[in-house]
Amino acid sequence: MARVVVAGGGPAGMMAAIRAAHLGNSVTLIEKNSTLGKKLLLTGKGRCNLTNTCGLDDFLLRFSGNAAFLRDAFKIFFNKELISFFKERGVKIKIERQNRVFPAADSSASILNALKKELSSCGVNLMFDTALSGIDTEGAKVKAAILSRRRRLETDKLILALGGSSYSSTGSSGDGYRIAKRLGHTIKSIKPGLVPLKVRQPYISVLEGLSLKNIQLKFSNSGKSVKSDIGELMFTGFGVSGPLVLTLSGKALDMLEPGRGLFLEIDLKPALSIEKLDMRMQREFKVSPKKSICNILKSMLPQRLINVFLDLAGIDAHLKAAQITREDRKRMGRLFKSMRLDITGSPGIERAMITRGGIGLKEVDPRTMASKLITGLYFCGEILDIAADTGGFNLQAAFSTGYIAGS
Ligand SMILES: Cc1cc2nc3c(=O)[nH]c(=O)nc-3n(C[C@H](O)[C@H](O)[C@H](O)COP(=O)(O)OP(=O)(O)OC[C@H]3O[C@@H](n4cnc5c(N)ncnc54)[C@H](O)[C@@H]3O)c2cc1C
Repeated sequence: MARVVVAGGGPAGMMAAIRAAHLGNSVTLIEKNSTLGKKLLLTGKGRCNLTNTCGLDDFLLRFSGNAAFLRDAFKIFFNKELISFFKERGVKIKIERQNRVFPAADSSASILNALKKELSSCGVNLMFDTALSGIDTEGAKVKAAILSRRRRLETDKLILALGGSSYSSTGSSGDGYRIAKRLGHTIKSIKPGLVPLKVRQPYISVLEGLSLKNIQLKFSNSGKSVKSDIGELMFTGFGVSGPLVLTLSGKALDMLEPGRGLFLEIDLKPALSIEKLDMRMQREFKVSPKKSICNILKSMLPQRLINVFLDLAGIDAHLKAAQITREDRKRMGRLFKSMRLDITGSPGIERAMITRGGIGLKEVDPRTMASKLITGLYFCGEILDIAADTGGFNLQAAFSTGYIAGS
């Protein structure tokens, strides 16, 4: 029986502790907060999008860059195993659109409670209000966990599950990177992922809270461009958010180079070509020549966008349909297909759902999550240099790597 210390009581650390205890080890889980899973409770707007039921290859496509690292872990503990884990512990599960998996109770607390119950029933020793501050090694082998208030815990194995750097009020404040760096591990540059974006245009504040459905986005600088699927965008007080923006935010921010500018073009009518849009406008204008243009546009745009749209097109909102010239129509057509905003950055890592970057994967064995530099040291969860889209992919990665590290 080995002595195992798991540092970090998020999804990755809790799963690692449960697995190591099931295998008969003496396990202590240390958490700097006074409760477990603070970030887990926030997931899926409090509903917890636990995983996704898509197949392995599609699943891996949702990770940026480093997906191959996860293949071994997913072969052993994947979405089916995770769903069974919770079902066996009495959590009812449901599947929503785009294969997203949630607890049927729509409550992340139901997931956290099942984990807490399991930690207790398999005898994991929990230490709260206890921060890991370092790791003592001897001859490149783990010897002890150094804890806050100068305490020390001798151990054979140490699993680092300290999360990333975002939403630091949940406890994940980048401690893991500093501790691993001191042991010689490479930390790939830490950046915000799944984050809203800031926009230069001041009128954006007028649109705060407005959500645009069935639109398409294209981010471009003078050299590259990246296009989204068709989906939803939300205006915030300072810029844009919503599923499409969050998903492309990492790629977009990487394209934001000094002196190059970054533009977001919103295609408000991705299903219609500019010619078809022009025909539709002509039809509507002909049917109601005396209606004001701002009234006519109600069938084509959300009410709150109409004045901004007409302003940008340089058209007086009180003009009657019959007064709209061919040139006006062409300008509106171009604006429907490309409403352009200047992206200036993100509100920072604090507001990011995940952290991109982290422990360099070349120094971690993907079959065990063991450090290749320090014997007895293991990593799991967001601390690793892995990052995925929204849809349950990040939690699955945390649980899967936790399970493997615990094994
Ligand atoms: C608002 C929001 C919504 C999200 N929604 C989803 C979703 O629906 N689906 C999805 O797949 N992903 C979602 N995510 C991402 C997901 O929450 C993370 O990927 C996941 O929590 C990572 O798990 P982890 O265990 O690696 O790290 P964390 O959950 O961050 O846990 C790390 C733990 O380590 C503790 N810790 C840190 N430093 C120390 C220290 N020095 N000593 C002791 N303990 C320490 C922290 O207090 C924390 O409890 C969301 C993220 C956010 C912010």
